[in-house]
Parts: sequence; structure tokens; C-alpha cells
Amino acid sequence: MRFSLRILLACCLAGLQFLAVLTVVFSSYFTSERALIAHARDLLRDVGTNAIEHSKGFLNPAQGAAELAARLAQNRVVASEDHVQLEQLLFQQLQITPQFAGVYYGSEEGNFVMVMRTEDAQAPFRSKIIRNEGGARSIELIWRNDDFSVVAREQTPEDPYDPRNRPWYLRAKSDLTTIWTDPYIFFTSQQPGITLAAPVVDAESGVKGVVGVDIEISKISDFLSRLKIGVQGKALIIHRNGDVIAHPDLDLIKITREDGTLRFANIAEFEDPIARAAFAGHAGRGPVLVDQVTASQFTWDGEVYVSTVMPPISDKLPWTIGVYAPEDDFTAVIKQNRTANIWIAALVAAISGVIGLALADYIHRPVRAFAVRSTLISQGELDPTGPAPRTYKELERANATLMQQILARRDAEREYGQTFDLSSRAMAQISPKDGAVIRANAKFAELIGAASPADVVGCRIADIAHPGDLAQSACADSGPGGAETSCEMRWYRRDGAMIHVSLNSIVIRDDQGRPLHGVLMVDDITRDKAREGQIAQLNRDLSHLARGNTMGQMAAGLAHELNQPLAAIAQNADTALLTLGEGADPELRELLDEIERQSLRAGDIIRALRSFIRKDEGTRHPFDFADLLDQAQRLVHPEATEAGVRIVTLTVGLPQVTGNHIHVAQVIVNLLRNAIEAIAPEPENERLITIHATREGDLVRVCVQDSGPGIRDGINLFTQFETSKPDGMGLGLSICRALVEANGGQLWHEKPAGRGARFCFTLPVAAAAAAA
Ligand code: ADP
Repeated sequence: MRFSLRILLACCLAGLQFLAVLTVVFSSYFTSERALIAHARDLLRDVGTNAIEHSKGFLNPAQGAAELAARLAQNRVVASEDHVQLEQLLFQQLQITPQFAGVYYGSEEGNFVMVMRTEDAQAPFRSKIIRNEGGARSIELIWRNDDFSVVAREQTPEDPYDPRNRPWYLRAKSDLTTIWTDPYIFFTSQQPGITLAAPVVDAESGVKGVVGVDIEISKISDFLSRLKIGVQGKALIIHRNGDVIAHPDLDLIKITREDGTLRFANIAEFEDPIARAAFAGHAGRGPVLVDQVTASQFTWDGEVYVSTVMPPISDKLPWTIGVYAPEDDFTAVIKQNRTANIWIAALVAAISGVIGLALADYIHRPVRAFAVRSTLISQGELDPTGPAPRTYKELERANATLMQQILARRDAEREYGQTFDLSSRAMAQISPKDGAVIRANAKFAELIGAASPADVVGCRIADIAHPGDLAQSACADSGPGGAETSCEMRWYRRDGAMIHVSLNSIVIRDDQGRPLHGVLMVDDITRDKAREGQIAQLNRDLSHLARGNTMGQMAAGLAHELNQPLAAIAQNADTALLTLGEGADPELRELLDEIERQSLRAGDIIRALRSFIRKDEGTRHPFDFADLLDQAQRLVHPEATEAGVRIVTLTVGLPQVTGNHIHVAQVIVNLLRNAIEAIAPEPENERLITIHATREGDLVRVCVQDSGPGIRDGINLFTQFETSKPDGMGLGLSICRALVEANGGQLWHEKPAGRGARFCFTLPVAAAAAAA
């Protein structure tokens, strides 16, 4: 799949932008989230620490005050028996320590002085004084103003209260030290609180009484409610026994018993479900108690919370402070920020994409123009030397190089095309797939008789070749790797005529060796084939003629030689008959008659044979002498080549001659063979035969001259059986002469000026040529 450069560039730009922004967004998100969660834990721990310090700060003065009061009583600074002074002392203590709900002193005698705060603005303090004097018990309630002035008094003699039975009294007395009670809900104020009790001890008589201080710890809940822990975070204080003693929502920590009294709600039943989930321990089995600050994470109702549990404040205050807050309180902002950033990233990517498109278009426009121009130039539809569109330097340089290459390629193509089109050889480009012609030159079209090269395109070699030649697969590989093949075939022209062709083909391949096309070079060898046929025929004719001639000449020679002895025999027989006369033995006469008759008969046979041979003059007709010379020369070519002899023919404008061309060919071949045999022993550089043929009037004069040793002395040329060769018959020259003469010419030998022999003969010029 191909993408447009524009789209690709725009997508890349937008994608990269988006990736970059996303990477920054997420990296910053995760980093910030981690930091914020760590910060949240720190914050929760700080809140816990703060709550601890606040609680300590809230309670410690109480201890100091209680112990001070106890010391004062002990050292008789305050006469514990003087209830008025004691009430005043306790009143002052209450006034200066705002977290105190009440201060009181109970003695071993059952006396009791207590000052406590009220909700009444007219009388913010109320004292309760129980006196046991002389078996009489008086119980008085006094409401006082800020300035200790009495607002109201009331006697409540039925009040059964006895401090000595109270747990705080009993524990302080038995422990002999300041004790802290567990938190409980004050009966009077119905507020959560604790009581501190310090014993007043006399060295002689032991414990004299116990000073107690009630501290309302609802203030601690107020403090917790004012703490800002994230958006929805809360802190609470859990007593070791699981009671929730402080919580921002004070009402939650109180539960009414069946008898109408109040108690603390346990963490396992606490109505703040998130606090329950955070601190009730596994399956609500109890409060989470830890030795050190412990941070954790939990999920409630699909929301993630972070929480911290502090170790108990102290032995006296075995309280655990738990703090929790939704994680979102800290990370919501960055989550919103992340979402916003992703949208911004998408927006930036979209804008980048649009800008990228525009930019790509701007960048791509000259590139496109350049590509279009290059295509047009390569297709030859635009002049490469024309003005180029404005583009980038790099493209201009590439363009220049490309143009050079295109021009060079076009030149090469033109040259190749011209070479192809104008070649004197028939050429065609063949498809490697189906063997069809892709392109052909005029010569090829002419060769197969097509109207034009275009007419040949698409035609397959298999369609025009002789089926027999195709089946033979006559083409043989040649050249490296079988790249070139050559063979001969018979083709059918469009007009139906059969021609002989010689094929040369090469395969053009690409860099990977895959065939691109084949180039076929074809030569019409029909004439050569015909000539070969003619020469073969001539050769056969000559063999036949040579046999006939030789036999004829031998017969003629024998007849000539035998004629005289036979005549002599006949004559002698006749003479013998005459000599014997009439009286001779008839049997003898008969014998002599028979001898004479047979010898005459033998003479007749020989004469008949001679006249029969002489009659074989063959038919005479006009023919092209130069052509025949060429054919005859080809016949002796193998012998000449073997003997290293060069044959040079000098013929100019020869007319047609009349004669029997087989006879004439025989003469030429005989003369050439004699010359080759004569030259063979000569040094190689002198092995030359020159055939010189000229017209002389009505005759053509042909001379065959060689560079051999010449005619040996004592050789009678043109004489039958005259030979200098061990296997020669001595008939050749006489046959030649007979043949030339039979064709109306002359044959002779003339000694050349230099070395060698020269045999010449004449032939009559053909009538038509002679008349011309
Ligand atoms: P043959 O070739 O059988 O000997 P020919 O009649 O053709 O018979 O030749 C007769 C002789 O003439 C040859 O033996 C040779 O000695 C001589 N002769 C013919 N042609 C040449 C020549 N070109 N050069 C030298 N001697 C020749």
C-alpha cells in the first residue's frame, strides 16, 4: 500500500506531537501522583501528630492542676476541712483551666467539695458540698457567678453520693499516684470525658483524700472537626478498647444504653463506615493497634482512600489516632489536569496534522512538479532543456543529474533504436514470456514479407517457423551461460514461400538475472542454401562426368592404340591367305579368314566405341561464367585450404558464355587441382593461384596460373597417359582440351614470365551477349 507523501508527513507530525505530549502528560501525571500520594501520607501523619500534640496539650495541664491541688491539700496550704477555702481554690483552678469540666476533692471522712461548669450563663459555676459533721450529713448545691458570688443555693439531703465509693477515688487511693480513668460519658453533662485523680497523702495517717478533675474531651472532637484533611478527610481517636472517643461528628460516638445512660460507640459498630473500613481491623475484630506510624490504602465503595494510624499517645492515654481521606482529595486535580492535558494533546495533534498537511503540501508541491516534469521528460513529451520549475536546491541538483541521465538514456535509446531499425540484418525483440515479437525492424518485416514492422508485433516465431525445425529444437546455445544461441531454420513468409534463415539470439537480463527480452538477429540464407544445392549438384555431375570422361578417354586411347595392331593383324592374315594361295589347307585358310574377320570386327567395335564416346558432348546453353567459376572454386576450396593455397580470382564484367556448364566446370576444377597439386610442395608464402578471366571479342579467355614449379621437362602435355605423378593417369589435360574444344573453345599452356604454369582456354560468348 502506498501513501501520499503529504498524508504521511502530516500523520507523522501529528502522531509525533501526540506521542510527545502524551509522554509528557503521563510522565508528569505519574510523577505528580506519586508525589501527591506521598504528600497525602505526610499530611495524614502530620494531622495525627498534630492531634496527639493537641490532645496532650489539652490534657497535660489537667494533670498539673490536679496534682497541684493535691499538693496544696497535702501541705495544708488549703485546709481540706475548710470547705469554703477549698471550694475557692477549686473554683480558681476551674476558672484558669478552660478544659476542666469540674474539680473536686473527696476526703476519707466522706466530705466532698466539687466545683463544676454549667450551661447557665447567669450562673456558670455550680458547687456541690457534702459535709459529715458529728454524724450529720449536709449536702448543698451553690450556683455561683464568675466572681464567686452566690447566685443560688439549694439543699439536697437525699443525695446519696459518697466520693469514697467512686472508682476514681478507689484507684487513686490504692495506686497512691495520679490515675487517669478510661474515657466515659459524664452523667451530668452527657459529654465524653476522663477523670484524673491524685491522692492527698499524709505521712502519718496515709491517704487523706483524693483530688479529682473532670476533663471534657468533646473539645478534642471539636478540634478534630476543625482540622482540614483534604476535602473529605477525617481524624478520630480510638481508645485501646475500641471505643471511639473523638470524632468530628460528636453525636456518632455516643450510644444510649437500655437504661438510658450513654456509652461510646465501638469502632466495629461505628456509623462512619469509612472509618470502620479503615480502622476496625480485619472483619471488624477490633481496632488497629500499631507500634509506629502506619500508612495504608483501602477501597471503600469503589473509591480509593489513604489512611494513617498513629501509635498510642502514651501509657496513660492509650489512644490511637486514625486519619483517613479519599485519594482523590489529593489527586483529583491532577487527574482532571491529565484529562485536560490529553484533550490538549489531541487538539495540538489535530492542529499539527492540519499544519502538517499544509506544510507537506507546501513542501510537496515543488516535488510533485518536479516528478511530473521528470515523467514527461522521460516519456519524451517535454524538452529537458526547457525551464525547470522553482524547487529546492537538492532537487535542482538531483534534477540536473536526472536530466543528464535521461538525455544520455534517450541518446542511447535513439542510437540503439537506429542501430536496430537501420540494421542490415533482420532484428526483432522477443518477449521472454511467450516468444512474441515486441519490436522488429524494417528488414525483419521485409524478410517475412510483412507490410511494416508494426505488422510483425505480436507474431510468434513458432507461428512462422517450419514445424519440423521447431520440433528439432535446432538452436544451439553459445556464449557464456547460454546467453547466445544460433541455429538455422526454415520460415514461411507471409506470401507462403519458404525461406532458410540463420538465427542468432541473445537474452538481455536485469541485474538479478531475470530475462527482460531476447534479441533475434536473422539472416536470409535461402540463396546460400540454393547455392550449396547447386554446388552439390555440380559436384555430383562432375563426378559422373569425370567417370564418363576418363572411361571415354581410356577407351579412345585404347581404340587408338589397338587400331593399328588390329589392322596389322587383319592385314597380315590377309597377306597370309594370299601367300598360301588356293591350294592351301582349307582349315588353315579358314583360321586365317577367321583371324582377319575377328580383327576387323574388333576394329569395328573400337571405332563404334570411339564414335559413341565422341557423341557425348552434352547440351550447350548460355550461362554466367563468373557464377560457375565461383561454384567450381568452392568445390576445390577444401583441398586448397588443406594445402594452404590461396586462390585469387580477377574477373571484370564477364558476359554470359555458351557451352555445357558441367564440362566447363570440369575443366576449371581439373586445372585448379593440377595447380594445387603442383604448388603443394612449395613454401607456404608462395602458394598462390590466380584465375584471370577477360572478354576478348566473342570469346572469354580464362587463364589459371599458379606459383608452382612449372611443367617438368620431358612432359608432353595434352598427351594421354603422360603423367609425372605416381598415381596419375595422364588423362586430365587431354580430357580438358577435348571438353573445351567440344564447347567451341581452345585450351593451351603458356609459360609465364616467372615461375609456375599457366593454362588458358577460351569459350564463346553467348549469342545474346555477343550481339550486345
Ligand atoms: P595427371 O594429372 O594424371 O598426371 P594430366 O594430364 O592432368 O595427368 O597432367 C599431365 C602432367 O602434366 C602432369 O603429370 C604434370 O606433370 C603436368 N602438369 C599438368 N599441370 C601442371 C601444372 N600446373 N604444373 C606443372 N606440371 C603440370
